[in-house]
Amino acid sequence: MAEKIKIALKRGASCVGCDIAIVNFNEELFTLLSVADLVFSPTLLDVKYDDLKKMPDKSITIGFYHGAVRNSDNEEFAHIMRDKCQILIAYGACAHMGGIPGLANVTDKIAIFKKVYKETFSTVNPDGTLPEEKSLDKEGHELTLPRFYDEVYALDDIVDVDYYVPACPPTSDINNKILTVVKEFVEEGKPLPPKGSIIASEKTLCDECERKRSGEIKVDRLYRIQEIAFDEEKCFLEQGIICLGPATRAGCGAVCTAANMPCRGCMGPTASVTEQGASMLSALASVYGMTDRETELSEEDIEKLMMQIPDPLGLFYRFSLPKSQLGRVVKERVE
Ligand code: SF4
Ligand code: SF4
Ligand code: SF4
Repeated sequence: MAEKIKIALKRGASCVGCDIAIVNFNEELFTLLSVADLVFSPTLLDVKYDDLKKMPDKSITIGFYHGAVRNSDNEEFAHIMRDKCQILIAYGACAHMGGIPGLANVTDKIAIFKKVYKETFSTVNPDGTLPEEKSLDKEGHELTLPRFYDEVYALDDIVDVDYYVPACPPTSDINNKILTVVKEFVEEGKPLPPKGSIIASEKTLCDECERKRSGEIKVDRLYRIQEIAFDEEKCFLEQGIICLGPATRAGCGAVCTAANMPCRGCMGPTASVTEQGASMLSALASVYGMTDRETELSEEDIEKLMMQIPDPLGLFYRFSLPKSQLGRVVKERVE
């Protein structure tokens, strides 16, 4: 029997949903554990950060880092995982592209602290005390907190990454794909995919989606899903409901559209583009015939249609803002 490999999971700025996604390997988790030992996972094992620090460099075969990088602790452990792991995987949309935490790049640290600690409605903090990197407790002991950054980063903005596993969180289809790659590598010595690969599909989500398309689209109004009694089998876009399928990479199994929810784009941009939001805007213009119907639609009509999209930045760049051309809306870095 081939020698088992060692795997480690470490979270950065993460909701921990990606750890749960690993548990969602379900019975396949046992298949994974038949070829790999889990040597570090603060969520799933009783381990301490020092345990990871003490491991020899490159002693872990594959490290999964999930979550974005938004403070000094996330950054320190991104470097430690890079040092300890032969192969480092950016697991989930946050590590891949900045994800939902990356939407914080529309603002900055000062505004976030003000909102959370001074204008808070959920925390009792009458003095509006802000977290300090260093402070003293009542007995005079020094307490430290990680430094909160002004900007949110994807993992490869900080360290070299070998592979990317997209989605929020990665679905069982994607996990099974990783499992196959890892098993074939361990048991048959098959080479791993080329460095930098995204473990997903080269197609767009629309290719994977089973909703019916007629090809005839004439929409004069856009709807939020709760505003319309929609056809449960028909393409969302054809019904005037925005679905990011045309601008999103396939590989998740189109789980959301199959469950009657439009795609929100967590797999990131398709293989042929880098800019998911701009790609979706251009898909919308073409799907709704704004370019062909230029003579029919006045600029005012087009503007009226586009104004029906609430929070376009949050919709089109929900998972990818730090990796987009927009990148950072607030430019100055405050630490
Ligand atoms: S990708 Fe999604 S599930 Fe994973 S840590 Fe980020 S927000 Fe959570
Ligand atoms: S736009 Fe959405 S609903 Fe329509 S085919 Fe593409 S993924 Fe499916
Ligand atoms: S359908 Fe869209 S939002 Fe849902 S998992 Fe797939 S890529 Fe993500």
